[in-house]
Amino acid sequence: MSQLSIKGLDVHYDQHQVIKNLDLEVQEGEIVALFGPSGSGKSTVLKAVTGLLNHASGSIELAGHTLLSNEKAVPTERRNIGLIFQDYALFPHLTVSENICFGLVKASPLEKQQTVDELLALVKMSEYKDAYPHQLSGGQQQRVAIVRALATKPDLLLFDEAFSNLDPQFRFELIEEMRAILKNKGITALFVTHNQDEAFAFCDRIAVLNHGRIAQIDNPERLFSYPSDRFVAEFLGQGV
Ligand code: ADP
Ligand code: MG
Repeated sequence: MSQLSIKGLDVHYDQHQVIKNLDLEVQEGEIVALFGPSGSGKSTVLKAVTGLLNHASGSIELAGHTLLSNEKAVPTERRNIGLIFQDYALFPHLTVSENICFGLVKASPLEKQQTVDELLALVKMSEYKDAYPHQLSGGQQQRVAIVRALATKPDLLLFDEAFSNLDPQFRFELIEEMRAILKNKGITALFVTHNQDEAFAFCDRIAVLNHGRIAQIDNPERLFSYPSDRFVAEFLGQGV
């Protein structure tokens, strides 16, 4: 069953149509990349899914709930989606555990403590519970940002260039670790990147965007072996 279903998504900025009748189905527990050159519309698709655009049309369903249709647009805060950005975006004045608990408004102190313990153990950062973000490396901050996004049990995780700021040496270690955690928990994710190595390492399928359309969507092996057109082949650096 599709966890995320996007049908006929259109987005215009003034006269300029930047997303063109885009369809995308993401299965439960699947990690899918939105991969394409700068300006191809990757961030715009993410904004439409999170509800940050007031001029998107088409339909979007998540976990059986309609987020967008002709009749309605559910506000961002009522879409159960976790966001992870390039710049970590932790609250600097809160400790690691306070950051993780920030969205847990209804949880008891015991539930909060259990959530923090479980999530920090997953990323092997249990001893950093009381640390502040500035005391952590970039990779550690991004681990905290990711488990913070998991704390509220979102229906979908969205990553926008979330690993780009890290040194390559640490980046692929983190990608591998995060993929294992998401797979273990059966989390559905959309991952925006212009970096092919990241998309191939992190994702089950890759949607290649070209000027607001999906040129091809396939698993990494098939995409690489059977690019559907010249744009995809050239973008994957194979020439033709
Ligand atoms: P990507 O994330 O793939 O780099 P974007 O989704 O940011 O691409 O942008 C897609 C297109 O939409 C680009 O042509 C960009 O210039 C345009 N665009 C993005 N945001 C705005 C905006 N707020 N106003 C006008 N045009 C925009
Ligand atoms: Mg972008």
